[in-house]
Amino acid sequence: MHEARTSTRASSPAVRSSGPRCEPARPHRRARSPPASTTAAAHTDSRTRQPGHSDRVRSLPQQHRHPAQSRDDDAQTLHAHVGWLFRNDRTPADRYAPDLLADRDIRAVSRAFPALCVLTLVLPFAVGWAIGGTWLYGVTALLWAGLVRIALLHHVTWSVNSLCHMIGERPFRTRRHDRATNLWPLALLSFGESWHNLHHADPTSARHGVDRGQLDPSAAVIRLLERLGWVHDVRWPTPDRVAARRA
Ligand SMILES: [Zn+2]
Repeated sequence: MHEARTSTRASSPAVRSSGPRCEPARPHRRARSPPASTTAAAHTDSRTRQPGHSDRVRSLPQQHRHPAQSRDDDAQTLHAHVGWLFRNDRTPADRYAPDLLADRDIRAVSRAFPALCVLTLVLPFAVGWAIGGTWLYGVTALLWAGLVRIALLHHVTWSVNSLCHMIGERPFRTRRHDRATNLWPLALLSFGESWHNLHHADPTSARHGVDRGQLDPSAAVIRLLERLGWVHDVRWPTPDRVAARRA
C-alpha cells in the first residue's frame, strides 16, 4: 500500500509519516533506483509501530479467552488498525527511511503532499460539476471519488496492520511473536501488500505474493519500472530464498 503499497511502498507519506512501521530485520527496500524515479521501488514500510506487528496483537483461540483478555485483544486490534494515528509517537524517518530523506524528488513529493490531497478533492468536485452542470453533481462526485475513495484506501492500508496480523495463513517463518499473515481477500485491494507473512519473513523481497496464483500488482509495477530502466538492483525472490523461509 507501505504506503497500500501505494501509500506504503510509494513514499511520500513514508517520509512524513508518523505511522506504524513493520519491524524488518533489514530495511524495506525492494529495489534501488536512480535519483529520479522511484516511488514504487523504494518500499519503506510506514506502517506499524508497535501494535499490529508482532506481539501486541496476539490472537488466542477464542474458547480460551477470558473476557478481560478478549477486551484487551479488541483494544489492541483497534489500536493496530487506526488508534496509533492518535498517539504522538512519531517514527523517526531518519532512522527508518534515510534513503528516502536523501532523495530530492521524494522530498519534493512529500512537501507537496498537503496540496496534492486538496487537489484530489477539488478535482472530483470540479469534474462532477462540469459533467452534471450543477453543484449537486460536484458534491456527489466529491463524496464518492473523494471522501469514500480516501476512506477505503486508508482502511485497506490499516487492515494490513490489523487484519494481516490476526487472520490468514502463515506459510513462512517469521520472528518469535510475529503473527503476520497472508490474507488473500485483500490482495488486489492492497496491491499485493496483504501477502504480509512473506513480507515479514523477507522484508526486502520485491514480490510479496510469491506463491502460485498470488496476485501482486505492486510487484508488477516494480517489474515495469525495471524494464524501463528506472529502477535497478531489484531484489526478486529466488526459489531457494523462498524455500529457506518456509515454515
Ligand atoms: Zn506487518
